[in-house]
This record gives sequence, C-alpha cells and structure tokens, in this order.
Amino acid sequence: MSKPVVAIVGRPNVGKSTIFNRIVGERISIVEDIPGVTRDRIYSSADWLTHEFNIIDTGGIEIGDEPFLEQIRSQAEIAIEEADVIIFLVNGRESVTTADEQVAKILYKTKKPIVLAVNKIDNPDMREMIYDFYSLGFGEPFPISGSHGLGLGDLLDEVAKNFPQEDEEVYPDDVIKFSLIGRPNAGKSSLVNSFLGNDRVIVSEVAGTTRDAIDSPYEYDGQPYVIIDTAGMRKRGKIYESTEKYSVLRALRAIERSDVVLVVLNGEEGIQEQDKKIAGYAHEAGKAVIIVVNKWDAVEKDEKTMNEYTKRIREHFLFLDYAPILFVSAKTKQRVHQILPVINRVSENHSMRVQSSLLNEVIEDAVARNPAPSDKGRRLRIYYATQVAIKPPTFVVFVNDPELMHFSYERFLENRIRESFDFEGTPIRIITRART
Ligand code: GDP
Ligand code: GDP
Repeated sequence: MSKPVVAIVGRPNVGKSTIFNRIVGERISIVEDIPGVTRDRIYSSADWLTHEFNIIDTGGIEIGDEPFLEQIRSQAEIAIEEADVIIFLVNGRESVTTADEQVAKILYKTKKPIVLAVNKIDNPDMREMIYDFYSLGFGEPFPISGSHGLGLGDLLDEVAKNFPQEDEEVYPDDVIKFSLIGRPNAGKSSLVNSFLGNDRVIVSEVAGTTRDAIDSPYEYDGQPYVIIDTAGMRKRGKIYESTEKYSVLRALRAIERSDVVLVVLNGEEGIQEQDKKIAGYAHEAGKAVIIVVNKWDAVEKDEKTMNEYTKRIREHFLFLDYAPILFVSAKTKQRVHQILPVINRVSENHSMRVQSSLLNEVIEDAVARNPAPSDKGRRLRIYYATQVAIKPPTFVVFVNDPELMHFSYERFLENRIRESFDFEGTPIRIITRART
C-alpha cells in the first residue's frame, strides 16, 4: 500500500523549506550521503503519530527560466497533480499578497483537501494575524511557527484527517508490480514495448488507483504483472521536460507503488548523479532492484567491457550490491527475454520467509565464527532472531543492549544471512531490539 502524499505550496520565503525540515525531522538517508543531493532535498518520508506519509516541498522545484508568478503557479499545479493533501503556506507577518492570491486561484481548481497554514506566528500574541487569511477562502487558518516548532501538531492532525481512507489497491497479491526508472532517453519506453511484444505505443491502460497513475497490466507464462506508471514515461509536457526534479518526483511515486524497480541505465552514457539518486530511493523504500544497462548494441566493446562496466556500477551503487545487472538492447532485443525471469526471481526473494530455526542456526554460527564486539567492557549478546516482515525481508534481532550493535557487525550478520539464503535482488532489514 502506498503512503499518502502531502505537498507544501506557497510563494517564496513564507517558510516552506523550514516547515518541510521540521516535519521530516532528523531522518538519516543514504541518498543524502551522495554529494550534491542534500541541498536540494524536496521529497522525504515522514510520520506523525501513527501516520506515515511522504512530503514534497514544491518550492524546491524550479521550472526553467519562467518568471516568478509562473514558477509558483506551476508548483501549485504539480502539488495538485501529485499530492493527496496540500498545505498552503502563507506568511503571517505580511498580509495577503498578490502571489498568495495567485496560488489560491490555482488551488480553487482542485477538489483535493487543502489546509491553510499561517507561518511565523512565533508567539500567542500574534495569533490575531491569522484572521486576514480567511479571505483566501480555505476556511480556518492554522497558526504555526516553523522556527519555534509551534502549532505543527494541530496542523498535522488536520492533514492526517484528510488522508484518503483506504488506498484502493486494485491488484491481487499474486501480481508482480514493477516500474522502469531512469533518465529520459535511457530507453524505458522502448523496453516496455519490447516486453509487450509490439512496437506500438502502449494501448492497454487502466487507471490504477484513485491517483492519476496509469498502469499497464499484462500476463506472461501464467504470471500476471503490472507495469507501474507507464504514463509517467510518456508524459513529456512542458513542466515535466523542463525540470529534472519533477521527473525525479514522478519516479519516486512509481517506486513507492512497485514491488520491483528496474533501474535503467543508458549504456551509451556514463552513470550520473540522477541515476544514483533514484536507485538510492528504491533501496530505501525497500524495493527489489534490478539494474538494466540498455543500448548495449550501441556500445563499442570487447570481451572485457561487460566486466569493466559491472565494476563501475558496483563502485557507484555501493548500497545495491545485491542487485543483479543485465546488459540488454531494446533495439536488437538482445537478452530482453531474461528480464522477466529475473523479475520473477527477485520478486520471490523479496517476499521470502525464512524459518526461525534456520535463521537462528545461521546467527549462532556467525557469532561463533566472529564473536560480537564489546564496548567499554560490555559484550553484545544476541539471544535470538526472527523474521517479522516481507517486502523487504525484515529481521528483528533480540539482544542485551542495542547500543552495542555496531553498523559493521550488523553488516556482517546481513552478509551471513545473505550467504545462507537467496536474497539476491532484495534489500533486507535488520532491527535490533532489547529483550525485555
Ligand atoms: P521558503 O522560501 O518558503 O522555503 O522559506 P524558507 O523556509 O527558506 O524561510 C524563509 C525565511 O523565513 C528564512 O529566513 C526563515 O528562517 C524564516 N522563517 C521560516 N519560518 C519562520 C517562522 O516560523 N518564524 C520566523 N520569524 N521566521 C521564519
Ligand atoms: P525513455 O525516455 O527512457 O522512455 O527512452 P525511449 O524508449 O524513448 O528511447 C530513447 C531513444 O533511444 C529512442 O530514440 C530509442 O529508439 C533509442 N533506444 C532505445 N533503446 C535502445 C537500444 O537498445 N539501442 C539503441 N541503439 N537505441 C535505443
């Protein structure tokens, strides 16, 4: 089930990124370790009480060289298209501006729930400043202060109230949902056409969810599949083309809804920042991942080329060491027939359950070979482990003190688990808990 999406819109300087950062909190993300990514983070997972959601700071989406008013108008349109709930943010220290009214005008066009928040209300005396904003026509404004972290609880309560009731997952459990993600021109549409066995633009479409994603269902060898968001691949509108961040955003939505993500690289070109960024999201979202190097026909090569390319991929995508790599050509169909069997395999691994007794044998054996570390005279003791979830496989390890579990030892346990069971293509998660 995919998480609801919240978007923050508003003219510049009202405090969108401040609020975004407050709501997101101190999330540590692998993607953030990649240079050049931190500054422009505009999409993150977040939670409030029992609700998990994704949040977008539309202020970070720059649309070419468009003039100021056009920019904020496009941002509001993106919010309407991508979000389930919109936070319309204004600045309580100024009265309603023309730009606020412009945003409001765009937002009137949607039926999606909109929550109006008045920022920079840093103390209770300033509350009366919110009354001005009733005139925008979105009901009661919520006073908040991004700098002081005030009012966010009430705001998020209201936002959560407006989340869609049940995400209508229309596909039965046995359907494998996958998406092709990659930069424009990597060959994603061509690959899809080669799966579907014709060279026409995909015609079979079904509105997949309450949202606007358009999916292509099909069946091969008795196995049902759905290709997620093939519309996103064809959607080459003005906004989509002119902003890399928007295309990344769309990719992230498709990733959320998939079981398996095919990271499609353009074999003719090197690996780029954007490839790593979206692959990083797939990993963090716990999806099975396959790296597909397309246009292999166009690559000048000898017997070493594939190994060298593989090595380069492994260096760039360190966190995806479990992902199988395929070298294909949508044009000549070389090895395209291998893609579906690999999707089947990693999908199976993604939902594999391991027996507790076997798992604990592996853990005991690992500890015997490489004793757990000690810290300030205290040694980590592992009592037992159990698998608590699939998609991705998630293990809880009960110990005397979780503080004693270091990253490197966790990694060692993960590797032992991987050597003992076939988790090719899927991330696995290890959660350390104190035994109570
Ligand atoms: P954005 O352009 O909408 O993303 O706005 P920013 O988050 O970059 O904030 C613009 C300015 O307003 C920055 O100088 C922030 O420090 C300031 N700011 C943000 N929230 C508050 C707040 O609650 N109170 C006050 N006094 N200043 C704030
Ligand atoms: P998308 O933007 O990722 O969906 O990419 P397209 O499928 O639209 O392909 C972009 C361009 O690359 C088109 O001109 C395709 O004909 C070409 N192309 C796609 N796959 C291959 C391939 O395997 N080999 C070669 N040589 N060209 C390809």
